[in-house]
Amino acid sequence: MSINGWNFQNTYLGLPEIFYSNQKPALAPDPKMVIFNQGLAKDLGLDDGLLKSSPELFAGNILPTNARPVSQAYAGYQFGRFATLGDGRAVLLGEQITPNGQRFDIQLKGSGRTPYSRGGDGLASLSPMLREYIISEAMYALGIPTTRSLAVVLTGGEVVRETIFPGAVLTRVASSHIRIGTFNYAAAYGSTDDLTALADYTIRRHFPWLEGVKDKYLLFFREVARLQAELIAKWQLVGFIHGVMNTDNEAISGETIDYGPCAFMDTYDPNTVFSSIDTSGRYSYKNQPGIGAWNLARLAESILPLLHKNQEEAILMAEDEIKVYWDIFNENWLQGMRTKLGVTNKEEDDTSLVKELLDLMEHHKLDYTNTFRALSSVNLENPPLPGDGQWLKQWIARLGRQPISINEASEMIKAHNPALIPRNYFVEEALTVASKGDMGVMKDLLRALSEPFEESDKYTSVQEGWSCGYKTFCGT
Ligand code: AMP
Ligand code: MG
Repeated sequence: MSINGWNFQNTYLGLPEIFYSNQKPALAPDPKMVIFNQGLAKDLGLDDGLLKSSPELFAGNILPTNARPVSQAYAGYQFGRFATLGDGRAVLLGEQITPNGQRFDIQLKGSGRTPYSRGGDGLASLSPMLREYIISEAMYALGIPTTRSLAVVLTGGEVVRETIFPGAVLTRVASSHIRIGTFNYAAAYGSTDDLTALADYTIRRHFPWLEGVKDKYLLFFREVARLQAELIAKWQLVGFIHGVMNTDNEAISGETIDYGPCAFMDTYDPNTVFSSIDTSGRYSYKNQPGIGAWNLARLAESILPLLHKNQEEAILMAEDEIKVYWDIFNENWLQGMRTKLGVTNKEEDDTSLVKELLDLMEHHKLDYTNTFRALSSVNLENPPLPGDGQWLKQWIARLGRQPISINEASEMIKAHNPALIPRNYFVEEALTVASKGDMGVMKDLLRALSEPFEESDKYTSVQEGWSCGYKTFCGT
């Protein structure tokens, strides 16, 4: 154990050199701590008291013991097109081994130019880093696999965008930063040995039970597909829109990664898109599951030589696995929806019951989160839904055809439908105040979001029409 609880390893550096470049973070002129995640620090085995007052560390001016900073190489299909990328503004410091033996990448985002920066400045400004902090921590509290945010510091430098913003660095914690795009990169630029090394490393790190197993690469693909199916089903159930589901923004671990132009949908509309650059709606809410399958196909293409020496055989194998992806997604989605409706057993018509509710929400432009939550009142006299009440009658009849009581169903609905999500209006308000140097509003919002299933009056109100045309931006 070393100073402050850092307990680093750097196993990623055991990969062939094409997968990274040694890269020190840029020197930040005058670092200041903006927010520090004490709970996460404790879980990581870090000395939260000491580190809280160490902006130099989280700006990258001082490195933790045994840190060997690198930027990772990767490629990615961006809006359908292959691009060579890599960490253009991030540095992986190392892998923290926690007291209970878990391994987490510690990455600084916004820490200066790297060999992969292309035309970019390698920098990040305060608001988008705080935004990632809020949304990732909210996702974590909702029980959705995600990277975490340990700290945001101001660098003391400036970032030039539409105007000048304060520069910031986010410390991101992830079970790894290996992406589908890392495999796309290996396939495009590496030898078969490089690709095999990456696959073996990923298996050792994320799916160690597959080591030494026959057909391990096929089983690896199956595991990745399962994790994506489960993750995207969770996104759909909670109304989360990632915004840029390029293969470089899809982690093999099944964690949500890269919070750029993402947001939670308020009014239910399956065509919702928040990203300012997604003009065709490729990454809209309703397209997310299909994009998950498309991205898996890009992963399969990259590892075809590992699946079977006969390419056609390999393709058939991958296609079968993508069918399994859809089965798992559909099953998780439907089961999740049943749970949201307080239903514990299965009936053939459950899919239509869910679809009819969603149609009703779309037609009446209802708030996705609040509508589900309101069902916990299970009330025909004072119905929580507009319309002729037909759907409610059907649903209450459905609740009668299962082994739990209406009260129990109501409790179940409360436990599975969040009262709180990071609503765009409140997130923006917190960011605006934070940009003036007052972190009070953001901290209050974070406190509320850490218990999303608790009844709350604050932060649940819908600002009518506020999110229409709401756009978030990436890369800023
Ligand atoms: P993203 O859209 O954040 O997933 O980023 C896509 C690619 O652009 C990645 O390779 C990033 O590292 C890179 N990138 C984003 N912003 C910057 C920046 N300000 N400077 C350099 N590279 C960047
Ligand atoms: Mg990215």
